[in-house]
Amino acid sequence: MNRFEALAARGVQGLQPYQPGKPIKELQREYGVSDIIKLASNENPLGPSPMVLAALQTEFPELARYPDGNGFALKQKLAAKHGVDMAQITLGNGSSDPLEFVVRVFVQPGDEVMFSEHAFAMYPIVTQAASARAVAVPAKDWGHDLDAMLAAITENTRVIFIANPNNPTGTWLDGDSLQAFIAAVPETIIVVVDEAYFEFAIDPALGAEDYPDASQWLERFPNLVVTRTFSKAYGLAGLRVGYSLSHPDLANLLNRIRPPFNVNSLALAAACAGLDDTDHVQRGVALNAEQMQVVTAAVTDMGLDYIPSVGNFVCINVGENAAAVYDALLHEGVIVRPVANYGMPRHLRVTLGLAEENERFLTALAKVLG
Ligand SMILES: *Cc1c(COP(=O)(O)O)cnc(C)c1O
Repeated sequence: MNRFEALAARGVQGLQPYQPGKPIKELQREYGVSDIIKLASNENPLGPSPMVLAALQTEFPELARYPDGNGFALKQKLAAKHGVDMAQITLGNGSSDPLEFVVRVFVQPGDEVMFSEHAFAMYPIVTQAASARAVAVPAKDWGHDLDAMLAAITENTRVIFIANPNNPTGTWLDGDSLQAFIAAVPETIIVVVDEAYFEFAIDPALGAEDYPDASQWLERFPNLVVTRTFSKAYGLAGLRVGYSLSHPDLANLLNRIRPPFNVNSLALAAACAGLDDTDHVQRGVALNAEQMQVVTAAVTDMGLDYIPSVGNFVCINVGENAAAVYDALLHEGVIVRPVANYGMPRHLRVTLGLAEENERFLTALAKVLG
């Protein structure tokens, strides 16, 4: 028992912290395995753009200085990219930051925050940390059941989180359905559309032709917050940078509680350079679509089913011994993500890596399943 437990805020009592994918070095330490591939955290197998690496070099001599607390250069680029005003942007140490800011600004103990069953783990965590009530609405075919979510709104609902596509399921909502949903939500409830995998999902090769860009709806819906990240398609997960777009009055509130230097100077420079290298993003997106095809065809050949995904990952149903399959894969030097804590005890989530990494995963999976 933690001797200070009783002193902690109610929501922090019993709070289970976020479980990240197993780091490569930890597997080396614990299992003595070498030559490890990690397909567990939806990271970009191509890494960042060479232009990003060059931009980082130029920042090194300036590291004694505080970063630009307003992130002017990055906000300027983002404003141009999205056709919004700089006052509509809130920068974050990863997009996890604005997701949490929304809860800290709008949610008080006892209020309700809604999301779907199998939704991204940060939503229940930030909700519970605010001593608020998490309302997880049962999913439909692994994805959001928007009608059920509308029906679950109460006078205590303050925030609704929607990941599009959702992690870990990879399921997505089409533009008409999502727009109709937001229109039906009272304007006093903040709707957050988390677009962490936007760049992958809009690739026509993944087949979601009706996948929407919710940032286009900001004028119509003043209660809408859209989040994006540099952690996935831009290959910058280690630097921690993301942002939200919203009505300026909403961004003003989010920016009040934003720690002044939450995005460091290397991350600011990297994000700016990353935005300039659209070819690099496109290479990663094309590789992803190609490998989605390869991996889903191979697991189908093995007699396994999977949840169709428009992210850079896919959930494969490996049966009731998923925990044992995960562990056996670790012994083969392959790290994937168990998702039992997402209410998916039969699935493993696999990030699509380089062709040779995915091949190694598929070989290891076939061996492990016998
Ligand atoms: C990876 C991910 C994020 C991004 O997290 P960062 O803090 O930007 O690294 C946000 N939402 C979802 C659903 C994700 O899977």
